[in-house]
Order: sequence, then C-alpha cells, then structure tokens
Amino acid sequence: MAFTCATGKHRRPSRMQRTTARAAGVAALTTTGVIGTLAAPALAAEPSAEQTGLTPVITIGDTVAAQIDAQAAAQKQAAEEAAARKQAEQAARERAAEAAKEAREAKERAAREAERKRLNTYVLPVTGSYVSTAYRAGSGLWSSGSHTGVDFHAASGTTVHAVGTGTVVETGWGGAYGNQIVIKMADGTYTQYGHLSSIGVSVGQKVTPGQRIGLSGATGNVTGPHLHFEARTTPEYGSDIDPVAYLRSHGVRL
Ligand SMILES: [Zn+2]
Repeated sequence: MAFTCATGKHRRPSRMQRTTARAAGVAALTTTGVIGTLAAPALAAEPSAEQTGLTPVITIGDTVAAQIDAQAAAQKQAAEEAAARKQAEQAARERAAEAAKEAREAKERAAREAERKRLNTYVLPVTGSYVSTAYRAGSGLWSSGSHTGVDFHAASGTTVHAVGTGTVVETGWGGAYGNQIVIKMADGTYTQYGHLSSIGVSVGQKVTPGQRIGLSGATGNVTGPHLHFEARTTPEYGSDIDPVAYLRSHGVRL
C-alpha cells in the first residue's frame, strides 16, 4: 500500500500541480464569464471518486484534467473556427469590394466610350433637309464659276447645327457667303455655314454634334433662303472638298 501510495504520490503531484494550475486558470477565466460552466463538471466528478475510496485525488485530477483538456481543445477549435470565419468574411468583403470596383470601372469605361462615340458622331446641318444645289454645280452666281459647297433646303430662321465636334474659328460677314460660321472639326477638317440670318456662337467656342449654332437665312449672294455648307481642309475659301462625301464618310445618311 505504501508502495502504491508512494508511486501514486510520485505521479500525483505533477498531475495535481498541472491540474491546480489549470483549475486556477479556469477559476480566473470564470470571473470573466467565458467558461463559467467548467465549475459544474469538476464538482460532479467528486462522487465517483468517493465511491472507489482509492486515490480520489488522482480520479478527480484526471477527470478535471481531461475535462479541462477537452474544454481547452474545444476553445482552441472555437477560436480557430472564429478566426477562419473572420478571415473568410474579410476575404468575402474584399471580393465584394473588388467586384464593385470593377463594375464601377466598367461603367466609367462605357460612359467614356459613349461620350467618345457621341463626340465622333456627325449629323446633318439642317435636320431632315436635302441638297437643293449640288457641289461644283456650275452657275454664274459663283465668282469661281463652280459651287464650292452644297446648299441645303431651309426656310429663313431654320435651326442650323454644327455637324460634329469642333471649335468655332470664324464668325461674321463673309462677303458672298453673307453671315457665316467656320468651325475647326475635331479631326482637323473645317466646316463652313453661310447665308445665315443669325449667328449664335463666337470664335473659340467649343461645339458638339447637333448643337444649334445659328439660323438659316438669305444673307450674301443668294436668290433665296437656304444653308450653304462647305467642308474644307483649311479655314480658307478654295480648300473645299465634296461635302456630301465628307458627311457620308462620317456616317451621315443623305
Ligand atoms: Zn451654296
């Protein structure tokens, strides 16, 4: 018996020390309310130790230690699970933020593309009109002997539009052209609008496709109201190119 006890005592203190230390740790933790339920299982183990009448401390110690080990393992697992959950949530948030950013960027790209398309769009200078006098038509009316632009049918006071994006480089009296506007287009070409009854833009002003720049009229050398329209490679008279081909090359149907 003494031998057994001695053996037990050799073994027990280390277990007890560990157990006590853990129990103290548990007690300390209990005050925080984190693992308050630990106290109950520890006490519940006592009756079985009394029943055996043998090495009760070992029984209690082992039971408590096992429970604490299990509890510690459960806590560790719970902590790991919580950490993993937190990490997964963080990753999900980052993915969502990234997706939102990409969606935002795609939207901005689409808006830029739409704006670029809009600015590259060309329209007729007079909505729904038609060419009443062709390019290079011969007539005594033109000092050069040849028509340097096209005439669009338009009653006096009809809205005249910039055919595309550009900057106004000239406005005012243009002799035979009457009141005129010259616009430098975004692609470096020029468009000219003549015989206007009213000029609605000034030099340096930016214009966009379809913007109202003035009203048609019968100023200058004309036999009746219409819009004289030219496409040019420079702002100057004499650098004219076929305005119908020019507009068509920019997607205008006429
Ligand atoms: Zn003309």
